[in-house]
Formats: sequence, structure tokens, C-alpha cells
Amino acid sequence: MQPERGRKFPEQFFFEYKSNTQISLKDFIELELPEILQLSPKQLKGSFDRGNVKFYSEYGLNAIQLRKSIGHIEAGTMVSLGKNVEVIRGFPKIRRTLLLEPVLKKYFKGEIALEEKMNGYNVRIARINNQTLAFTRGGFICPYTTKKANELMDMEEFFNHHPHSVLCGEMVGTDNPYVSHYYPEIGKLGFRIFDVREKNTNQPWPILEKRKLLEEYGLPTVKFFGIYDKSEAAGEILDIVKKMGEEDREGVVMKDPNMKIQPLKYTSSQAHVSELEYAFSYPFDLGQAFFFSRVIREGFQSFEMDKSDAEIKLRAHRIGESILQPMLETIRIISDDKVAAEDLLIEVDSPDEAEDFARYLRSLGVIATVVDVRNGKAVIRRLHQSTSDKIRNFLNGGLY
Ligand code: ATP
Ligand code: MG
Repeated sequence: MQPERGRKFPEQFFFEYKSNTQISLKDFIELELPEILQLSPKQLKGSFDRGNVKFYSEYGLNAIQLRKSIGHIEAGTMVSLGKNVEVIRGFPKIRRTLLLEPVLKKYFKGEIALEEKMNGYNVRIARINNQTLAFTRGGFICPYTTKKANELMDMEEFFNHHPHSVLCGEMVGTDNPYVSHYYPEIGKLGFRIFDVREKNTNQPWPILEKRKLLEEYGLPTVKFFGIYDKSEAAGEILDIVKKMGEEDREGVVMKDPNMKIQPLKYTSSQAHVSELEYAFSYPFDLGQAFFFSRVIREGFQSFEMDKSDAEIKLRAHRIGESILQPMLETIRIISDDKVAAEDLLIEVDSPDEAEDFARYLRSLGVIATVVDVRNGKAVIRRLHQSTSDKIRNFLNGGLY
């Protein structure tokens, strides 16, 4: 899970804008930004007053960060300031379908392009001021992701030819500080691109053009299952997702081949269950936020996918264990006088790098410390305070 927190707003910040004129951040937001983002000055001001527009200064980049969406502009949008103002738009939310059969026919036009949905964390990569930077979902430049993305892929030529494009993809693998998940073809760390979008407009490339483009530059993409006619897609997708679950894979994203309609996501039972397992390891930090929606997903998936009582029983068993077992384990840990903690593994070149990353996490409000660095790996321990405190209190006779 990605933690994110904003910064204070400097009233007195000036920067060079257009033909060498200096402009204050305040004037820029009032006078120029509405036009750039196609928002009304009133909308922007409201958002600014509520503290949802932050100033961000990192990697020599001065930017405005949108913490929440404003009108059609997505949360996580970054406006890079300077003579050339560039907008790296936030990655749009993908809506979920609980049932395939009734939804696909109603929602899509004719055909559906099917891609694998990979379980990692969302990253947007863009070239700004000659640097290739990696942004997390909320619009923060993550030092680990930026370094690793540049090591994992040679994006030089791509950005030379497409400086206005943004590569959107998933950082996946086990040495992953936000979402650690094992994929046999990836192992420790890998990157898979699912969208190419344009700066300022967020216009996505159509599916087949995107795949061809990325192939031309030798850039890695998510698995593509093909294009299906919407009338027969539901059955096929149910089978595919069932099999994916058995291989511990997350699910699929269904897209309009022309990317004119917003994509939809659909995930496997095993993905729901592994999220419950994670959440109920830290029940008082994450349990509530995760619980209801995962159970609802299982209910509807069972209705559409399960063909026998045995399959329903198996699902019920799986979901029950995913809630009870991790919670029990954590209660035992606390009763042994230890704390609820999660160890994140990252690859580092030096102890300093590990400390840098832990500092970055703390700047976002996470309680994290480096507990071990050896053989190019660092273990960073993240504490789940509410879980430790509450469980300890109950073990000491506190009332619920
Ligand atoms: P949301 O996107 O709805 O805000 P979320 O942040 O909780 O949801 P997920 O439920 O994981 O994230 O689903 C959306 C995410 O899936 C995308 O933001 C993206 O990072 C990821 N993803 C993985 N594979 C793909 C793919 N092939 N196409 C689009 N997104 C993908
Ligand atoms: Mg995800």
C-alpha cells in the first residue's frame, strides 16, 4: 500500500515563466492554471482553499501537485513549473465490474481488448527537464522507483522520439516496497507497461498501436490476451480469470480497443483473498477498509462462476481462512510481546540508499526503519501501530 502525504504551500515562490517574466505561484494558480487545466478559476480556488493543491519541490523540479481530483483533472496530477509548463496527468481510476455477463454487453461498443491486470503499484514515467522520473499514483517522485525503472528499461530512445508521452505501468515482483507479489517470469523486480498517454491531455494510445510502439522500442508490456467480440467475451474471461487465480495471478483489465471508453477491471478470488490476508494481519490498521468490498466481490463472482456446491464450499473456506488465520497469528505475536510489523525488501547499492528510502517513507507518514542491509538488499520494517496498541489492550483485559 502506498502511503502519501502533501506539503505546505509557499506563498512567496516565484518562477520564470514564458518570455522571461517572473510570476508568483499564487498568480500562476489564479491567472494561468485555469486555462492550462481547462478548469474554472473558482473550481481551482476552492480546491486550493481546501488544501488539495500542494507545492512540490524535488529532483530540481518545482511542481504543483493535485491531491484530489478537480473536475475532469485526476488526483495525482503534477504540473511542472518553468518556462515550459508540462502537465503529467494522474492515472485515471479504473472502475470494477462485479459481474461480467450483464456488464460487458451494456458497457462496451463492439469489441473488447483484454489485458492482464498485474499486481504491483502504479507508476507513471515521464521525461521532464532531461530527467526520466517515476511518479507514484499520488504524484510523488519515488527515489527507489525512479532508480529501478531506469535500470530495468532503456527508455532513452523512446523519450528522444516521444518526449511528450508518459509511460504508465506496474512495478511488480517480490523486492517491491509497496506491493510484493511473486511472478515466475519476473522474480525480484520488473516493470510492465500498460498504457502510453500524452502529457497535458492524458490521451491514451489505442491498444494495437500502443503494443506496436512499445515493441519497436523494446519496452516490456503486460500480457495481451487478444480482442474479443463483446457478445462472447464474458464466458471466455470467466475461464481465463479462474485459471489466473489458480496461478496466483490477479485478474484482467478490459479495454475498448480505441481507448475511447474507460477500461474496467475484474479480479480473481485468490487476489481478493490475498488482500484480505494482508489486511487481517493488521486488522485495526487495514481490516475495515479492505473487508466489505472484497466480500462483495466474492459473492458476485461465486454467483457467476461457481458451478457446484463443492466450488462454493471451497470459496467459503478460502475466504474464512484468509480472515481468521492472519488475525490469529498477529494476536499470538502481540501476546508474545512483539509488535505488528511488516518487513519490506528492497535492492540497494549502499546502506545510505536504504536510509534514504526509509526517510522518504517517513516523510509520507509511515513508521519505518531500516533493520538490516546486506548483500545488496535492505529490510525496512514498517510498524502498524493501531493493531499493536489495540490488541495489546484487549490482551490486557480492555473492552471492545
Ligand atoms: P483504481 O485504479 O480504481 O484507483 P486501485 O488504485 O485500488 O484502483 P487496482 O484495484 O489495482 O488499483 O486497479 C487499478 C490499477 O491496476 C491501475 O491503477 C494500474 O496500476 C493497475 N494495472 C495493472 N495492470 C493493468 C493494465 N493492464 N491496464 C491498466 N491498469 C493496470
Ligand atoms: Mg493494483
